[in-house]
Amino acid sequence: MTEPKDNPLMEKIVSLCKRRGFIFQSSEIYGGINGFWDYGPLGAELKRNVKELWWHAMTRQRDDVAGLEATIIMSPQIWKASGHVDTFADLMRECPLTKKRVRADQVEPQSGIAFTYLGANSTITNEVVSVFRANLADTISKLPNDDLKTRAEIEAGDLLVGELGATKVAAYLFQWRDLSEGLQPVRKLLHEFKKTHEGKDSSERFTVLLPIGKPPESAHKIAREFYQLNGVKNPALLGEEIKKIENSVDFHPESGVMLTEARPFNLMFKTFVGPVESEDNVAYLRPETAQAIFAQFKNVLETSRQKVPFGIAQVGKAFRNEVTPRNFTFRSREFEQMELEFFIKPDEVIEAIHGSVASVSNSQLSTLNPQPNWGWQAWHQYWVEERVRFYEGIGLSRAMLGFHHQTPAELAHYARACTDILFKFPFSKKDEQGKVIGDELEGIAARSDFDLSQHQRFSGKPMGVFEDELRAAWAKLPKEKQDALWKRYYDHRKNYLTKCARPDETAEQISKQATDDANGLAKGQYIPHVIEPSAGVDRLILALIANAYSEITETDDKGKSETRVTMKFHPRVAPIKVAVLPLMKNKPEIVKKAEEMRALLRPWMNVFYDEAGSIGRRYARQDEAGTPFCVTIDFDTLGEKPELLDTVTIRYRDDGRQDRLKISELLEFLLSKIR
Ligand code: ATP
Repeated sequence: MTEPKDNPLMEKIVSLCKRRGFIFQSSEIYGGINGFWDYGPLGAELKRNVKELWWHAMTRQRDDVAGLEATIIMSPQIWKASGHVDTFADLMRECPLTKKRVRADQVEPQSGIAFTYLGANSTITNEVVSVFRANLADTISKLPNDDLKTRAEIEAGDLLVGELGATKVAAYLFQWRDLSEGLQPVRKLLHEFKKTHEGKDSSERFTVLLPIGKPPESAHKIAREFYQLNGVKNPALLGEEIKKIENSVDFHPESGVMLTEARPFNLMFKTFVGPVESEDNVAYLRPETAQAIFAQFKNVLETSRQKVPFGIAQVGKAFRNEVTPRNFTFRSREFEQMELEFFIKPDEVIEAIHGSVASVSNSQLSTLNPQPNWGWQAWHQYWVEERVRFYEGIGLSRAMLGFHHQTPAELAHYARACTDILFKFPFSKKDEQGKVIGDELEGIAARSDFDLSQHQRFSGKPMGVFEDELRAAWAKLPKEKQDALWKRYYDHRKNYLTKCARPDETAEQISKQATDDANGLAKGQYIPHVIEPSAGVDRLILALIANAYSEITETDDKGKSETRVTMKFHPRVAPIKVAVLPLMKNKPEIVKKAEEMRALLRPWMNVFYDEAGSIGRRYARQDEAGTPFCVTIDFDTLGEKPELLDTVTIRYRDDGRQDRLKISELLEFLLSKIR
């Protein structure tokens, strides 16, 4: 599978994940399936905690966000409208030999010696030649002694077999019109050879890159394999060219073969709905959760009693047939997303109602609550800041995060801005100064009114909203202001309609539609814009695991060294919150007390009860699982030292410190740490 073999830390993380039951390869007993991963007992808890914390922060903790849980398979029209059917593709290149594909932008540079062949001719195999010779010999033996002509023909043919190969001989003998009677059986035989053994020739160019020092025979072997696959029997290579290559991204990283030209490859998994596998029944596994939110926008708006600005949040599975799944779970083919679509008023509407659009500095954002006069820029900055604070709250420090502000060339034509929040993974690349750049954890995009507009056009159902406040404010605006806002809104709508026009739509129709849209402002109507913070659950889990991983190697008096791993998860996300450990398992009073403790804590958090092995071993096992607190019940708990009656030892994972705590205070203490 695609674990990074050249990254020792990633190798350790992958092996810990399997050993401790965080993440397993999907279908492992059958050799796995590339790009699919299962979460084991600890991973499942970790994932559940992450999703619940996100849900809590994004919906329950806020008045302005409502939740949604939509189906994975939806009307294929949704993916037409969103553009996924036509444009959700990666450019990919293929190894013409192994047929393995790579994403065009992800080929690692390689150096070596490139061997190029201009084609190959087919030659008949030795086996066939010997059959041909044997038949000639047979024919000769049956010839009358005085048939000199035939003998001469045979000799000529036999010589040619040696020099040219049977196919060429066959061609030669066929041109020999007045072939003697004696050679007729050979002619018949040649007919058969021609039918079954003559392969085609090829003039297709083929290049393979060998590491410096590898013998050229390897290149010949690979090239012959390629031409053979393409129907050339026993290929003789034509026109070898040899060239030194440095840092080229044109060769497949595994086979070394020169890649084909880049071609778009749609990433959606296709299936059929119903028993008939026809084009009419094609459906797609959703490649993102967002589109369901747009499609249900009106239903949620009507049932949740929300008003713009407000958001709709969803957590769920998404599927992408990634060309090259890699970096463990980072790029998978089945994964989960946590997406929010936060609907806002267009800036023209804000200006009509509030006179101007407020700008907000980044320093204000940490203290400022959202304001009614915020335009898209302030909302975008706000959501970037909110999301960073979420990550900080679950243990990812700002130092481990990074940002990528998409350039105008990178942005989709409808998007106004997109900020990616990056995490510095062990496999992340470094910039020229040697600083780790990080890889995308979440993208926060200002997507304008593109999505709702597309669904309005494709479904024919209105996706706009009506606001009395806008209608009233518009009526009071001076004419010049109305005209200026009308024009800006008109231009924006016309631009969108022109870019997304269907082939049968005329310029007049587009202008009329844009005019109607802009006229809607006076009636209090507009299509909301959207800010989309879109995060991947699996990438976040991987970030949390990489961030938590910490190891210490200790050497004892006898020189034996041992490496101990501690997973320093934030208590909020830790799969097990507390381990309850009776000091001895053969002391019924201690065990009884420990069981009471488990019963006390269990309704509130994930508790692990462990009575097997020395207390040191048990602590070590919990450190590896990332359990932040261990509670030990000992003789003092039972009152051996009367002043310690009904107290327990609490041990902190990260520094091994131990405190004595009253049982009556334990629950509250733990809750304060894990919430
Ligand atoms: P990338 O550029 O890495 O392919 P993207 O920009 O296509 O990602 P989005 O479409 O913005 O990703 O999806 C939002 C989030 O979903 C990403 O930030 C990421 O966390 C997650 N995600 C996307 N594709 C995958 C994948 N193949 N495996 C795991 N998570 C993914």
